[in-house]
Amino acid sequence: MRVGIPRSLLYYKYLPFWKTFLAELGLEVETSPLTNKQILSWGVEVAENELCVPVKAFYGHCMALRGKVDALFVPRVVSVEEREYTCPKFLGLPDMVAAVADQLELPPLLTPKLNQREKPSEFKWQLINFAREEFGVGIMDAVAALETARLAQSRYQESLVNGHKPLDMLPASRLNRTRWKAPKDKRKRIGLLGHPYNIYDGYITQNLVARLEEMGAELVVPEMTDHHVLMQAATDVPKQLYWTYEKEIMGAINHWTGNNLVDGVIYVLAFACGPDSLVQVLIEHRARMHKVPLMSLTIDEHSGEAGLVTRIEAFTDMLMRKKTKAEAVA
Ligand code: SF4
Repeated sequence: MRVGIPRSLLYYKYLPFWKTFLAELGLEVETSPLTNKQILSWGVEVAENELCVPVKAFYGHCMALRGKVDALFVPRVVSVEEREYTCPKFLGLPDMVAAVADQLELPPLLTPKLNQREKPSEFKWQLINFAREEFGVGIMDAVAALETARLAQSRYQESLVNGHKPLDMLPASRLNRTRWKAPKDKRKRIGLLGHPYNIYDGYITQNLVARLEEMGAELVVPEMTDHHVLMQAATDVPKQLYWTYEKEIMGAINHWTGNNLVDGVIYVLAFACGPDSLVQVLIEHRARMHKVPLMSLTIDEHSGEAGLVTRIEAFTDMLMRKKTKAEAVA
């Protein structure tokens, strides 16, 4: 049986885990191609207009796997931390896709529910039961698959903490990579903040990562910091956030600004994203407090290349002037 994983949303966080787990259960795994014009327009055509662009792209990726796989893997990721939630879109994703599955002639959906809100240990049983019910895999084999998948995910996360970016390691992502880098003394440390599916989808963000590196930025991304450090840093706000992925973003800016790790921050957020629009206010406040220049880039399916390039050029030039002035004073 061939199972398709759409290359969008949590693909950018958990691909090593999901791919290994499914492969260890004896399934063939196929991912959809990099986002392209066709994929995004398919998604935009079928999705509700009010949805954020990565969810729209997700529909397109499901459509790109039609005729290539026997089932689509669309998990319902409710919670990945105790007493916290993910974005509501992840809770409803299987229902949203199922609502148009017949119309789009999508293959059947595999939708395990992953919810660690009450008890983190439940996660293990949720996946074991999924393997047993969907594929008739025995408990011991499912446990072994789970352990191998966990190992693959922790190796991936260790590499991120050691300075790699998801683009360096996820398959077929090299198109997004830069070919030229500025000399080290000419680089500005820019914290690139946002959800990995927004930052690393080169088509949606007009190759933002590669462009910034070509403009001489040394990029710092949230994935380069250990998850527990981010979670701890995220508590430095008046009211605790209960969306895990927003906490990671908040933790990253708190950690960077508190330890003087960046010269400036670019925050990439999707138009119509509820959680991001709330966290944006806290991020702006934090940047102001620490006098760190911040630029917010709101993306949607209409984002144009020219506007983006002009804005990031102006931002990186400003950072360079600031750095040169500070060096002259010192
Ligand atoms: S967090 Fe925002 S960008 Fe991400 S899926 Fe939810 S609404 Fe969309």
